[in-house]
Amino acid sequence: MASTGRLRADALRPLLVALDAGLDRAERLGVDPVELPRRHADPDDQEVAALVAVSLAYGRADVFKPLVAEMLSRMGPSPARFADAFARAPGPQAFAGLHYRFNRPPDLAALVAAIGWVRNAHGSLGARFGELYRGASGLRPALASLASELRDAPPVAPILRAARRPRRGLRHLLPDPGGPGASKRWNLYLRWMIRGPDAVDLGTWARHGVPRSALVVPLDTHVHRVARCLGLTRRRDASWSTAEEITRGLALVDPQDPVRFDFALCHLGMSGGCPARRDPVACAACPLAEACKAGTRAAARLPGAGSRRVKGRRARNA
Ligand code: SF4
Repeated sequence: MASTGRLRADALRPLLVALDAGLDRAERLGVDPVELPRRHADPDDQEVAALVAVSLAYGRADVFKPLVAEMLSRMGPSPARFADAFARAPGPQAFAGLHYRFNRPPDLAALVAAIGWVRNAHGSLGARFGELYRGASGLRPALASLASELRDAPPVAPILRAARRPRRGLRHLLPDPGGPGASKRWNLYLRWMIRGPDAVDLGTWARHGVPRSALVVPLDTHVHRVARCLGLTRRRDASWSTAEEITRGLALVDPQDPVRFDFALCHLGMSGGCPARRDPVACAACPLAEACKAGTRAAARLPGAGSRRVKGRRARNA
């Protein structure tokens, strides 16, 4: 994207707008974890429910979403009030029976107690993140500090010790953004909290002074694949550097809001609209095809593809 970046961004912008506009948002929200914190109206409940949901948002959404829903239901009508009280007096059986891949009930108890502890100490997670961001040299160090404060919150060690549970489960829920990975879940959390409020993102932290322009794309396998198709990166590693490179390309499309199209890009992949194995039929129907070399080649192999593209272009220009 570097040499011809701006020109390509100008060409890509209307295609992304069309992709976003054509999304069945209600249907896609039904399979997206953000749907769970969106059930709460109170900003405190949103930030707590969102961190619980995003921490467990690994693997298949149809498997982890019911577990998160059950966990939040055990936290009652106000997840924030529950977490704040739980940090002072954790109940060892609060999440008994809730197992998900790398995580066990004591990990979930430690997560909730850590959230409550940081909130009790600083007023809210958003207030604390805003302070850390203002004192740090960027988003990533601020995020790393928040993750570290949560992992080392005083109630965590007694909970894990009593359950004889090693710390690696909690580290999986609250990974270190300073590590080699793209920290997809942390960047997704920030997107939810800092963008919006709109039909997808919550915008709960908009008042804490972290600009949308600082956000980094939450890099998952779907976004990575589509970004490579669009020439936003050539990198194959799902690293923070790759996420930053893609974000720089998307910032040419919208400098104030580089992750504006993340939901649409992710759900293009999740829905099978851009399958991992090239599918000429999917490419012919894809709103991004004109900006995608792979898609253009695949669609050109379809009988009658040329006339379909011309018709599509005419319809868009009409
Ligand atoms: S044109 Fe095809 S390969 Fe390119 S983004 Fe769309 S579906 Fe994916």
